[in-house]
Amino acid sequence: MFRTHDCNSLRKSDIGRRVTLAGWVNVTRDHGGVIFIDLRDRQGLTQVVFRPEENAELAKQAHTLRGEDVIQVSGTVAARLPGTENPNLATGDIEIIPSELRILNRADPLPFPLDADPQNEDLRMTHRYLDLRRPRLARNLRIRHLAAKSTRDYLDSQGFVEVETPILSKSTPEGARDFLVPSRIVPGKFYALPQAPQQYKQLLMVAGVEKYFQIAKCFRDEDLRADRQPEFTQIDIEASFATPDDIFALTEGMLAAIFKTACDIDIKMPFDRLTYREALDRYGSDKPDRRFEMKLVDLGETFRESGFKVFRGALDAGGVAKAINAKGFAGITIGQADELTEIAKLHGAKGLAFIKIENGEWKSPIVKFFSDAEKTALQSKLNIEEGDCVFFAADKWSVACEVLGRLRLRIAEMQDLHGRARPVRAGLASGAPDWDFLWVTEFPLFEWSPDENKWNAMHHPFTRPKAEDMPLFEAKKFPEVRAEAYDVVLNGVEIGGGSMRIYEPPLQEKMFEALGITSEAQQAQFGHLLRALRLGAPPHGGIAFGFDRLVMLICGEQSIRDVMAFPKNNRAMDLMSQSPSEVDPKQLRDLGIHLSKDKKL
Ligand code: ASP
Repeated sequence: MFRTHDCNSLRKSDIGRRVTLAGWVNVTRDHGGVIFIDLRDRQGLTQVVFRPEENAELAKQAHTLRGEDVIQVSGTVAARLPGTENPNLATGDIEIIPSELRILNRADPLPFPLDADPQNEDLRMTHRYLDLRRPRLARNLRIRHLAAKSTRDYLDSQGFVEVETPILSKSTPEGARDFLVPSRIVPGKFYALPQAPQQYKQLLMVAGVEKYFQIAKCFRDEDLRADRQPEFTQIDIEASFATPDDIFALTEGMLAAIFKTACDIDIKMPFDRLTYREALDRYGSDKPDRRFEMKLVDLGETFRESGFKVFRGALDAGGVAKAINAKGFAGITIGQADELTEIAKLHGAKGLAFIKIENGEWKSPIVKFFSDAEKTALQSKLNIEEGDCVFFAADKWSVACEVLGRLRLRIAEMQDLHGRARPVRAGLASGAPDWDFLWVTEFPLFEWSPDENKWNAMHHPFTRPKAEDMPLFEAKKFPEVRAEAYDVVLNGVEIGGGSMRIYEPPLQEKMFEALGITSEAQQAQFGHLLRALRLGAPPHGGIAFGFDRLVMLICGEQSIRDVMAFPKNNRAMDLMSQSPSEVDPKQLRDLGIHLSKDKKL
């Protein structure tokens, strides 16, 4: 037997008991020959005290211990000397007086200390197994486990069946870049790793599974931005004979179960719903962060007849004039104003007009163009008060919304309005963070790709148009067609999205056609799906949640890397195992692959 107790379980009531503990040497302290060791396992810490006067031989051995040595200690539980108790430690009233010490394994000097947050992430990743010993990351892994377990328990309770789908699957042209796997048995052909089990889950509906889910690994070969990983995990769900309301109720229940189990938080249900159009109109984003106000206000009525050419011109051209009021931001610095102007320009504005309200005065070069009536209207619509700063955008609807939405987020950061979800400790909420869940519905079915000069599916090509918009779809008025698609947003982060699917073969073919996929290409790439739809496909729909991101928010972390056991770095490398790596030339020969010389490996 290695141990009788874990390192977090001994209390005053155990005094006098003989115990054996095993774990890692967390810290050693030498107080004039007396060696204090904090012994650590995944549950916590227990102090072990080696006194030379009690056992000279053991104390000598203990003297050689270093951080992260793995040891086993047998001894007696004793009360700590009065005044030396540690109220911050669950085991802080007691210590172990050892009678035996076994050094199970020595550790080399550590590449970085485990008791501070090391800054050098590459170093942490190279020795990820050490990094994971740190309590914060160990806690994150456990919260992740609880979230996965409650997902499975909840979906099981609702009659959903977990089905695994292939990792070696087929490359299709939509979406991100695929990771390819060369076939040895069929030379010159490739599998693709799934970007999501989308087609498989639809085929499972044709197979009569009716209620499917999977905690599924997905793979996308993208250039990594801060919060992306080449492989990540989704909670993937699909149901037959289900309406969007069924999916909404199911997944609200699932999220409530996850939050309750993983961090003892009761979330508010049902979630609010906003259409895509409303979300952009009010927050300038399809994933609005509603933890702070600063809503976009439409000024069309106010400036329709205005003498101020910039606003009037945008309105006459069919665009909009909108504004946000950043309360108490009149002290904006020149640097901040420059940065915000850059953001506005980056998202399509020609410049950025704003008014500071200081000492009762409206300060801006544009104020002189406003009539008194316009000023009065602005004042009341935007609730303008002393100390405010109002930002304007007059442009096409989409540009004005996007620009003000971006400014809104950046200004909130500058003013620190986010009230970031506070971290949870030991699985329990440390406070009462705002968890603002929201459905965004009625996304456009298509989005225009100027690079490819064609329409793409905003969600994916299997998403159905809204029934009311079928005539628009038939008339090929693509920009106006709304999809039966929805996202779940939490505190301004999209955590999930899904849609009702096309189950009628002719409609699916028309959709492919709208996306510029020829009949031949449809057969080659999606023939299996089109055939399946002809063989008794039920109406169906579903959703997928980004599991890593969800866990990240629950843990109060800023990066999904902190809730993954072995993430890749921002060059998509696993620094610990040095992957990707070169392979034996024979392996390449077997696959019929020749590496061109001019390309670096
Ligand atoms: N497969 C979709 C995605 O990964 C989600 C869904 O439509 O269910 O975004």
